[in-house]
Amino acid sequence: MAASPFQFDNTYARDLPGFYAPWKPASVPSPSLLFFNLELALELGLDPDVLNGPEGAAIFAGNLVPEGAEPLAQAYAGHQFGAFSPQLGDGRALLLGEVIDRLGRRRDIMLKGSGRTPFSRGGDGKAALGPMLREVLIAEAMHALGIPTTRALAVAGTGEPVYRQRPLPGAVLTRVAASHLRVGTFEFFSARSETQRVRQLADYALARHDPELVGTPDRYLALLQRVAQRQAALMAQWMNVGFIHGVMNTDNVTISGETIDYGPCAFLEAYNPDAVFSSIDHGGRYAYSNQPLIARWGLARLAETLLPLIAGDEGQGALSKAIGQATEVIDAFPEWYAAALLRGQREKLGLQAGDDQEDRALAADWLTLLHHHRVDFTLGWRRLADAAAGDERPLRSLFPQPQAADAWLARWRSRGEGGQAPESGERAERMRRVNPAVIPRNHRVEEALSAASEQGDLAPFRRLLTALQRPYDETQEQAEYTEPARAEVTADYRTFCGT
Ligand code: AMP
Ligand code: MG
Repeated sequence: MAASPFQFDNTYARDLPGFYAPWKPASVPSPSLLFFNLELALELGLDPDVLNGPEGAAIFAGNLVPEGAEPLAQAYAGHQFGAFSPQLGDGRALLLGEVIDRLGRRRDIMLKGSGRTPFSRGGDGKAALGPMLREVLIAEAMHALGIPTTRALAVAGTGEPVYRQRPLPGAVLTRVAASHLRVGTFEFFSARSETQRVRQLADYALARHDPELVGTPDRYLALLQRVAQRQAALMAQWMNVGFIHGVMNTDNVTISGETIDYGPCAFLEAYNPDAVFSSIDHGGRYAYSNQPLIARWGLARLAETLLPLIAGDEGQGALSKAIGQATEVIDAFPEWYAAALLRGQREKLGLQAGDDQEDRALAADWLTLLHHHRVDFTLGWRRLADAAAGDERPLRSLFPQPQAADAWLARWRSRGEGGQAPESGERAERMRRVNPAVIPRNHRVEEALSAASEQGDLAPFRRLLTALQRPYDETQEQAEYTEPARAEVTADYRTFCGT
């Protein structure tokens, strides 16, 4: 018998019985491999010759459980739009198992859209092709942008329709993650007062993501701090690239610090801090500029689950001491976030370290300028690199009145003179490596998904994906993907949860 294409080593299944339901993926009528991520397969040490063919199609559609897999649906809870749901869990996903990648990192392999599970509630456990390809495009774009994210390994068509407002082609996504531990995983057991299980989960999370903290005296407080620091860094990266997640419920906030669950997410076009695209986010809870605040709110929910662990068995007074310590971490979040944001903004502005207050104001005033003149966020930053190379025309042409940016540009240029040439090819090149030319523009994503879903034509999806994998290149082939949508299109753009 041939060796399994995966060398599974399943710690979640082994170490955390009672945290999941063992389950099998549903069989589908006609598996076909629509997308296979060869580069990622190699990174994971998988055998692409087996996977990139009929056997891969059968595995990625859920029809064939590969040897060594122990498919399971994970239990989790979560605060959705602020309200607590004690039982969510993998309603349409199954963890197949874990592999160790070429760099020695443990990675989860998960099917999404693989049928009903004990956590499905009213849902059908299935996924439509469009939203699964959307997750591929955005996750792979985020990865190319250097932002921690789950990855997309494969998409298999199922050959059966899924019924939403109308029948749509069905598909299964294979997703790869550092882990699928969520704030909501902790909430699930905390809400049931299963403190021993919360401790087991925290120990598992420490071993997996912060192994150097294992066995240290204040490890649970340190875990909270690490998760908060990872989320602070992540929020800064989202903000600096104009990403709006759209559904930052605590079941979608990871312990690893990776971005997860690309449902109603979208990228900013014309800069607007209040931007909301999700059709169900009526109050703007997950608006662009609210994201760091909401991340902190989610971390406070994690902190609550960890309080008994932080307090330990030290009796009276220990709990209030733990509350004080956890509060300090949550209160430090805005500073961590601000520091990470400024670091990223300085790189985008092409500045070396300088006076924090001045540089914060410089970046804030730049954003205000983009906002007031409805300048495209991505192009605004990108054309600043041309200005650094001595050509301000492309930047000025983004503004309705070309002189609108003059005063700010003069300030930026004078700040640049602190020890470095304000205009230099070297500086411009550095800026072009952090200010992307190509992001997943909403109209391009929709166009690619509709061709795939309505006409069975994957060519636009493939072309867009290729462009997104080289976000900092601005070649002829890339040019069409750098253009914003017309303002009317963006004004009416609405996204939906990826069910
Ligand atoms: P999400 O919006 O993808 O983060 O999912 C939130 C919750 O709804 C999770 O518990 C999912 O497993 C569940 N869910 C989403 N779509 C479906 C579906 N089609 N069938 C069953 N459960 C689903
Ligand atoms: Mg989710």
